Amino acid sequence: MTTQETIALFDKYVIANYGRLNRVIVKGQGCYLYDAEGNEILDMFPGWAVSGIGHCHPRVVEAITKQAAELLHIDNTFYSEPQGRLAQLLSERAFGGKTFFCNSGAEANEGALKLARLHTPREKYKFITAEGSFHGRTFATVTATAQPKYHEGFLPLLPGFMYVPYNDIQALEAAFTDEVCAVMVEPIQGEGGINVATEEYLQAIRRLCDENAAVMILDEVQTGMGRTGKWFAYQHYDVEPDIVTLAKALGGGMAIGAMMAKPDIAACLVPGKHASTFGGNCIACAAGIAVIEAIEQENLLKQTIRVGQYAQEKLRALKATRPIIDHIRGTGLMIGVQLTSAGAGIVSRCLEKGLRINCTHDTVIRFMPPMIATEEHIDRAIEVFDGVLAES
Ligand SMILES: *Cc1c(COP(=O)(O)O)cnc(C)c1O
Repeated sequence: MTTQETIALFDKYVIANYGRLNRVIVKGQGCYLYDAEGNEILDMFPGWAVSGIGHCHPRVVEAITKQAAELLHIDNTFYSEPQGRLAQLLSERAFGGKTFFCNSGAEANEGALKLARLHTPREKYKFITAEGSFHGRTFATVTATAQPKYHEGFLPLLPGFMYVPYNDIQALEAAFTDEVCAVMVEPIQGEGGINVATEEYLQAIRRLCDENAAVMILDEVQTGMGRTGKWFAYQHYDVEPDIVTLAKALGGGMAIGAMMAKPDIAACLVPGKHASTFGGNCIACAAGIAVIEAIEQENLLKQTIRVGQYAQEKLRALKATRPIIDHIRGTGLMIGVQLTSAGAGIVSRCLEKGLRINCTHDTVIRFMPPMIATEEHIDRAIEVFDGVLAES
């Protein structure tokens, strides 16, 4: 099928709820995508952070191929080894937590909010989230998402949510009452424009949750699984949350979400309270195991720190000649370039020149290369990016 024919199918049969770029992608390998016309694209935003270790990582492909021949799916009426093993691997890399598996980030956060309610007395029902956050599109998670543009058309939302400015400890203290059940924030806001939490902020959340017997939930759907150079972004801080949610890169391209909670909190989720038919299915969990093994055996956390620093330095150096760049922020390979004006045009011009990046929050260019990216990939990406900036 040609590009035009495929797009015609979408126009006729697929609900048009996404703004799509005019390409049909037919293949992905490592740091590269290939479109239906044979163009190669250097992918610095692989799968919206899903393909965290690159497209079609050979270990993931092998693991799911093997698993597919044995058992694709078994419902949660039974036990299955991949789900148990993936939960163990996650627990060993975080805070000894226990995991509930689902299929997406929104579901993981939905599960976290429900668990927090179950864990606290009924009169404690309020949730605090931060302005600029993104937590998903279900009714509870879109309510948790404290950005008006995501709420338009859906009012009234769920009751009980309070929004405070991100990284603002005073506002958090002022909002806290003994009615608060949980605080949910991203350690680095992704969709909100790569806003990095301060050490003091996460510690204040921890302290206020402890003082008020509330649950501290960190949404690591975007920051988790090595993106920042540690398994979880909170590990850059001297803070331990009660619940962490994961999705995106966890399955190396397979749909999977996870909510990991401290064992005493996790114990509140008894049979009948929450479930997911596809959650923890064999093939997604086999993929998750392969992702963790790949990151470990290929030393990708270290590489992420090294290449991330390199990329940030190189981007910072562009500022001298490109006044549209205000500043660079981020951790590891989660990098935002704050522009002084809109960035959407830059993204499409980069794509025309074979580079995929992303723009969020109108003026923030997101570079989130796969963890397998090397300095050479960064050099190439920045050369293209700089070329586009020079023309604009
Ligand atoms: C993408 C994202 C979500 C939602 O994940 P879905 O899989 O699209 O439901 C939630 N939180 C954060 C921080 C995200 O980046």
